[in-house]
Amino acid sequence: MTNWQDRAAALYDGGFRPMVIGGKWCSSTSEEVIEARNPANGTLLATVPKGTAADIDAAVTAARAAFEGPWSKFTPFERQALLLRIAERFEAEWEDLCLSDTLDMGMPIQRTLANSRRVLGMLRFYAGQAVSIHGQTIPNSFPGEIYSSTVREPVGVVGAIIPWNAPIAGSIWKIAPAIATGCTVVLKPSEEASLTVLMIARIMQEAGLPDGVLNIVTGLGAEAGAALAEHPGVDKIVFTGSTATGQAIARAATGTLKRVSLELGGKSPVIVCRDADIEKAVPVAAMAVFANSGQICIAGSRLFVAREIHEEFTRRVADYARGLKIGHGIDTDTDIGPIISARQAERIASFLSSGPAEGAQTLTGGNRLSGAGFDDGHFIQPTVFGGVTDDMRIAREEIFGPVISALPFDSLEEVVTRANATPYGLAAGVFTTHLGTAHKLAHRLKAGSVWVNMYHAIDPAVPFGGVKMSGYGREGGTEHMEEYLETKAIWINT
Ligand code: NAD
Repeated sequence: MTNWQDRAAALYDGGFRPMVIGGKWCSSTSEEVIEARNPANGTLLATVPKGTAADIDAAVTAARAAFEGPWSKFTPFERQALLLRIAERFEAEWEDLCLSDTLDMGMPIQRTLANSRRVLGMLRFYAGQAVSIHGQTIPNSFPGEIYSSTVREPVGVVGAIIPWNAPIAGSIWKIAPAIATGCTVVLKPSEEASLTVLMIARIMQEAGLPDGVLNIVTGLGAEAGAALAEHPGVDKIVFTGSTATGQAIARAATGTLKRVSLELGGKSPVIVCRDADIEKAVPVAAMAVFANSGQICIAGSRLFVAREIHEEFTRRVADYARGLKIGHGIDTDTDIGPIISARQAERIASFLSSGPAEGAQTLTGGNRLSGAGFDDGHFIQPTVFGGVTDDMRIAREEIFGPVISALPFDSLEEVVTRANATPYGLAAGVFTTHLGTAHKLAHRLKAGSVWVNMYHAIDPAVPFGGVKMSGYGREGGTEHMEEYLETKAIWINT
């Protein structure tokens, strides 16, 4: 059995981890660093460069040189083979990749090992996509022998900016389609969790990814991130993060009219109808929020329950929450790991206060944890609030923490209206045993994904993304490839 403690000590010893520009591992021009600390106990894992606008500029130059140089000579079949080799290398280093995420951002190791495996599927899915890109021959209205057709071309240099809550999947969902289409990438990971992304870059380099195809600039959002969003040498920005940052990025990108796709925040509804299979729905509805300590964009944080079963259902969700083990991600029996930072924990704590202050009833949880095992980290109890009304802050704002707001409803018409009454539209869940209700709600809910009698399913072959202020563009599926491709029309007069 793996001894995770020993492996953790061997993986990160507090030393400096360089970033990569044009295939060279380097410090920042600022010579400054950012500390990477384990959110479970505050241990210094490593330091990473605090990248600047000058570093971003160098990375964009390297990405452009690769895009126009050796990388453009790779055939689709060579890019496919490369993605398959990367997948193999990932498989070989899988445990260390998962451990790195657990140490750097707190996700329990059991969850990383289980869930992040879909990343291997992503790499292999995009390997298949690489050889499926093609244009069309299109009949036209011109007389004579004039032929019109289209070809699909890579969009160019892609600037990718990602959050801290799922570094492996988050980065691969940006990098793999770029490799498949022949784009090059400058990726800025979150300042809260850069280490696994640097490991991923090293693995890809060893698998044969040419220099400059993937450049990683670690650094702060307001500095390195903003420089990337504004850079005139970037053709497309792909961003995952909060809605406020997404708005700033869209504004910054307007200056050069670069294409943008945005995967943003949510306040997703989960609707439990009176005919739901309660036994099956309770753990799924609970983990729709508590997984990754609530730090997931799709968290089903508004739990609408039919009034007839509201009391029983919310009591059972609260009982389930009480049974979850809170602890360090590295402990294999941990269900709920730490919150990423003191700042995030304080933000979540403000909701733990505002809920009761506005009249919500605390059914379980409601506290930050302190004392043995918790003092040096940031831990929040899984919390269920009952008696919530739509106007309360806990029912309106994205919390990004382990907090459920339970709201009763009386009719399907009413719940659809209330569920849609949010600026967000990322995801929704429905629990019912009635096929007609499942269809009706799935079609009427304004969300990029609707899950019926399940939650969280994300697959490389199925498009994922938001509507309204949860963003635009899709990741996954063939739609995702469109985000990285341009269409060129070619006319030939014979
Ligand atoms: P964030 O918006 O604070 O940061 C995300 C990234 O943007 C980081 O790399 C950060 O450094 C960078 N950034 C910050 N300011 C910037 C600026 N002005 N210009 C350019 N880059 C900038 O988000 P976060 O706190 O890291 O992550 C949590 C948020 O991400 C939540 O709102 C969550 O819902 C969202 N999220 C969405 C999805 C999705 O697929 N829809 C997935 C995961 C997380």
